Amino acid sequence: MEFRDLKRQYQILKQDIDKAISEVTASGAFIMGKNVKELEASLAEYVGVKHCLSCANGTDALTLALKAWGIGAGDAVFVPDFTFFSSAEVIALEGASPVFVDVLPETFNINVKSLQQAIKAVKAEGKLNPKAIIAVDLFGLPADFEQIKAVAQQEHLLLLEDGAQGFGGSIKGQKACSFGDISTTSFFPAKPLGCYGDGGAVFTNNDEWADLITSYRVHGKGTNKYDNIRIGLNSRLDTLQAAILQVKLRAFAEQELELVNQVAHRYDSQLKGVITPCIPEHFTSSWAQYTLRLKDNAERTALQTFLKSRDIPSMVYYPTTMSDQTAFKDSKHYVETPTSHLLAQTVLSLPIHPYMTEAESQTVIDAVLSFLN
Ligand SMILES: *Cc1c(COP(=O)(O)O)cnc(C)c1O
Repeated sequence: MEFRDLKRQYQILKQDIDKAISEVTASGAFIMGKNVKELEASLAEYVGVKHCLSCANGTDALTLALKAWGIGAGDAVFVPDFTFFSSAEVIALEGASPVFVDVLPETFNINVKSLQQAIKAVKAEGKLNPKAIIAVDLFGLPADFEQIKAVAQQEHLLLLEDGAQGFGGSIKGQKACSFGDISTTSFFPAKPLGCYGDGGAVFTNNDEWADLITSYRVHGKGTNKYDNIRIGLNSRLDTLQAAILQVKLRAFAEQELELVNQVAHRYDSQLKGVITPCIPEHFTSSWAQYTLRLKDNAERTALQTFLKSRDIPSMVYYPTTMSDQTAFKDSKHYVETPTSHLLAQTVLSLPIHPYMTEAESQTVIDAVLSFLN
């Protein structure tokens, strides 16, 4: 059994993907070919946002947003302590200071009370300028943007949605990657919508930021390509990846999102005795991960070992909080993050993907239940 079976997905989409790839190779337009613009238009329409700008990966997408906002030294950016490294890394890379905030035990997403405490602590200290919040849609579930937006407005902070894992999720029918002032996603192969290498995208309704990101992603170009008006990146999405994503986005919207939710539903209805993921009312997940919470670290280790003995892969996302990362050992901690630390010790993600058969999910369920008994 595969944790996320990309080979099976390829076999199912093979005809269309092979055709898309050979059309690009025949065209010779490998950089910024027509597929890139077409994909951006489809993504913007799917998400329901005015501008979509593709780029080289999900980390660059976050960096491009911070650059468009001019975030740098002396600025505080609030970010969950329990996330993938990129969410916090990009803040430090721009010279700004990440301020780690705790998450909720039920949804794994940012805890608004902890966010408010962190903002208060930064203001009280008076050294950093609070500038932005990066809210992560962890494991496919959108963060609670109604509450987060209220805080952002009250505190005059910009809101960046890190939707690297969230693409396809929704709140009250509104799609993920549309909730931030700027939102981003990643097309890393194992994400809900993945390409065959690295890729990413930025979403915004703001014309001015879209123009800036268009410039930043190609070496800070001006209207003339050889007139560079700012320092930027080389961060484009390859035409080949765009062509692959056009096929994959169609499959994602037509069947995969629905299919992966069916697998999650089978897990939810049969896994008793462990804490299964909580999807709040009016929220939907795109199931980047299906993540259990165990009683303690010993139980997690024992379950993972037991699953392995039955050839069932499982993963720990994430074993280390941001505040415990070696690279952030000198960062100041403004609030305690006990839930993030607890989750790092007790979470375990099970195999999930749209093309997982009922028999496969049953094998996983039976193994977890027999472990618990
Ligand atoms: C994967 C991921 C990223 C970075 O995406 P890349 O395409 O790998 O650069 C950023 N944030 C989160 C939450 C992620 O899971």
